[in-house]
Amino acid sequence: MVSITCPRCGKTSYNLNDVRERYCGFCHVFLDDMPNHQLDRLRAQEIAQLREDGARVSYALDCALQLVECLIAWAPEGTVLPEGVKTCKYRLDEAMRQIARKEAK
Ligand SMILES: [Zn+2]
Repeated sequence: MVSITCPRCGKTSYNLNDVRERYCGFCHVFLDDMPNHQLDRLRAQEIAQLREDGARVSYALDCALQLVECLIAWAPEGTVLPEGVKTCKYRLDEAMRQIARKEAK
């Protein structure tokens, strides 16, 4: 979930305007106007948040991929997959290969 945590008061806002403007409604201050040491803390929090979100997306993708593999394996022997399914599966495999290449770097 998109949020912003103020390094000064520690409160988190899920208000999209606050997130976009990087504004703390409790301190009534734009976070970019804060002193550098507070900003560094905020950026570290944001990076940690992005990593956490990325890990969640990655897990969900992995589950989806396993589901697709199971469904395809579940189809009776000799089943011809509809063209749309084949295309989607090809795209998914290609997207996963791109992620794997990036992770290998
Ligand atoms: Zn604040």
